Amino acid sequence: MQGLMMDQPLLISGLIRHAERHHGATEIVSKTVEGKLHRYAYAEAARRARRLANALQRLGVRRHERVATLAWNGYRHYEIYYAVAGSGAVIHTINPRLFPDQIAYIANHAEDRIVFYDTTFAALVEKLKPQVKARFVPLDEEYEKLVESESDAFDWPEFDERTAACLCYTSGTTGNPKGALYSHRSTMIHAYAAALPDTLNLSAREVVLPVVPMFHVNAWSLPYSCTMVGAKMVFPGPHLDGKSLYELFESEGVTMSAGVPTVWLGLLDYLRKNNLRFSTLKSTVIGGSACPPAMIREFQDVYGVQVLHAWGMTEMSPLGTAGTLKAKQAALPKAQREAIQSKQGRAIFGVDLRIVDENGKELPWDGKAFGDLQVRGPWVIKGYFKGEGGDPLKDGWFPTGDVCTIDPEGYIQITDRSKDVIKSGGEWISSIDLENIAVAHPAIAEAAVIGVRHPKWDERPIVVAVKKPGQDVSKEEVLKFYEGKIAKWWMPDDVVFVTELPHTATGKLSKLTLRQQFKDFRLDQK
Ligand code: AMP
Repeated sequence: MQGLMMDQPLLISGLIRHAERHHGATEIVSKTVEGKLHRYAYAEAARRARRLANALQRLGVRRHERVATLAWNGYRHYEIYYAVAGSGAVIHTINPRLFPDQIAYIANHAEDRIVFYDTTFAALVEKLKPQVKARFVPLDEEYEKLVESESDAFDWPEFDERTAACLCYTSGTTGNPKGALYSHRSTMIHAYAAALPDTLNLSAREVVLPVVPMFHVNAWSLPYSCTMVGAKMVFPGPHLDGKSLYELFESEGVTMSAGVPTVWLGLLDYLRKNNLRFSTLKSTVIGGSACPPAMIREFQDVYGVQVLHAWGMTEMSPLGTAGTLKAKQAALPKAQREAIQSKQGRAIFGVDLRIVDENGKELPWDGKAFGDLQVRGPWVIKGYFKGEGGDPLKDGWFPTGDVCTIDPEGYIQITDRSKDVIKSGGEWISSIDLENIAVAHPAIAEAAVIGVRHPKWDERPIVVAVKKPGQDVSKEEVLKFYEGKIAKWWMPDDVVFVTELPHTATGKLSKLTLRQQFKDFRLDQK
């Protein structure tokens, strides 16, 4: 016997329709490429999304076809999200920080019909034009003409909720990038999950500034989940330096933000130098790479901003786990609470996870055994776009490529990407643990730990670090700082200071590049 409830498909257009009716006057504020503040409300965003949907139809974009963006976080990008997916086409967000050849590959692989681009990317677009067949539309007066010349009457079509809605390519550190193709259903369920109190805790009372780009896994769902709950949104455009972010936080009364650790380095540095405080910011979500405990402490102890450490990946829309405390943990001493918060959190309902050894045998949740993390759930991919790379699943689970422990309360702690693991004398050393300690040193801004060849131990860890501006510290002092914090055999064999560390297109440390840079590095052999 089936239930007797309506079979209404979960469609992305439902979000903007709801926001228009129920949060029509709630603002969306954007700092434009030109540095001006643009403000309008959900009602106007919805009207413009409908006009754009008409324009897409006039331009001949049909169901399932891909429409791409090369754009910062901003109101036009937001409208494109809704117009494209809402009308049954697929929004393909391209990461402009990739190499032009990679972008051309992605745009051709996706068969993009149109590429909307922010004018900051005009030079990049000139490089792409000879290689990519799509129509390129700049997000300036040309886009405005396109939108303004259409009627705002458009009935969002109804179709199967499993229809493709958004396409994001993985950063592809090896081989060509592969596409994760989300459906309306997966995006909607993920947006509900993102809004939950123990996930991002979104509501109509929050003012949310996503620093995480809309070109990287849909800004962790914020353009959808904020619309779902009617939160005010503030988009920073390309202005991601500490000063610009701080001023926008203050002028718009931002209460919650989200981004990768590297972006917060700049903001915290700016606050420290200018002796500033936040007047409205209450919480920030940090993920994308491991958030060092020192950063959590600085946000919470110095600035009174609660940090939520979260983990996820493109292949899972991206949210997987979030580090909110349980009731019994909230009463623990500060150091213990911080230790839990510096883990990557526990599974959000909808994500099933486990760790396995090299033979696929499940490992215990004792906080000690570490193995390959596998996930499954309604917003986890089952295959890549166009079948690239074959079937990625193992016994129905998606292997994340991350190595972690899971404690008895279900909190995961990522120790490494499996390909970044340092193997010394047959045992694993966690590079993330060693990095977290290095950046807790007051004179170190950023650190990466990689394994270098060693004739006896196979590999040994070295620290590659960037000093904070105006600070000095020696190799010996850094090594001394490790004493008593780790097992003796984890002690890094060397510390090398550099002026800058390499990052990937999504702001993560690029250990691949770093390992290449250090491939001839020789340790004094002990
Ligand atoms: P991407 O698909 O580009 O978002 O990258 C996903 C990968 O980023 C994951 O598989 C992890 O290796 C890494 N990652 C994301 N969040 C965290 C986190 N909180 N701590 C450690 N690594 C993370």
